[in-house]
Amino acid sequence: MFPIEEVERRLSVVDARADLRADCSRCAGLCCVAPAFAASADFAIDKPAGRPCPKLASDSRCSIHTDLREQGFPGCAVFDCFGAGQHVVQVTFGGRDWRHSPGTAEAMFAVFPVMRQLKELLWYVAEAVTLLSPGTLLDDVQRAQEQTERVLEQPAEVVREFDAAAYRQQVGPLLDRVSRTVRNRVPDRAADRQGADLIGAKLRGADLHGASLRGAYLLGADLRGADLQHADLLGADLRGADLRGARLSSSLFLTQPQLDAASGDASTTIPGTLQRPRHWSPTVTATTTTRSPSRRRSRLNRR
Ligand code: SF4
Repeated sequence: MFPIEEVERRLSVVDARADLRADCSRCAGLCCVAPAFAASADFAIDKPAGRPCPKLASDSRCSIHTDLREQGFPGCAVFDCFGAGQHVVQVTFGGRDWRHSPGTAEAMFAVFPVMRQLKELLWYVAEAVTLLSPGTLLDDVQRAQEQTERVLEQPAEVVREFDAAAYRQQVGPLLDRVSRTVRNRVPDRAADRQGADLIGAKLRGADLHGASLRGAYLLGADLRGADLQHADLLGADLRGADLRGARLSSSLFLTQPQLDAASGDASTTIPGTLQRPRHWSPTVTATTTTRSPSRRRSRLNRR
């Protein structure tokens, strides 16, 4: 049993993460205007930075939102600003937007990518808070959370000059300590594969529980029925990975864009803070029902 203060702390973190999701109704289509796109498998067109995508409607909504993959924009379907868009428009610029106040456009587009990096970092830090018991490490993480939130509240001219990449490098080791602390409690955990090249790897039924897969390249990997509970997936590239039947409900530092970039089915388990992507199969596919026999054979080396 947790003391009531501990329960309240964890609930407040859940609330904080609710604010780290895109709310397009309070944004001004910043992700469809500010960045440049190069025509590729992810985007059907070239688009220079600062110019609205031709698919962006006058109400700042995407006119092909329900059809992005079919129309050649899968990159948009897996993008998440972690709430940066609405923060820039509503907080940093006090409700103004680039359409009605063109003088704000250049600054708004410069602030947006910095804000997105900071908001994504806050997503990880907020999760780290939920994973720890009171102590020195939790104190350090909460300090990082408060410091990051203070940057978000700064005026546009300060945020745009903020070196978010360097700041993320600074906070990264703290998140790594959190990950190790949590995973070291996991019995008989699988070997770490941090940054590993696992592109197209055949990991069906693999036991990866408690492993660090931070920054691993899992593009197109067959992870059907894999056990990824308590695995650290921070920055793992899951594009095109097959997660049907995989278990991720207690994976660490997993994000919505990672899930959106992969495929799954009704038997894939995911953390309660994330949403099941709409393109995932709503049924259990037959190929995921042989998890147990293959588990040992597919198991990677132990620590
Ligand atoms: S296709 Fe839609 S979501 Fe993608 S940039 Fe254009 S308007 Fe935005």
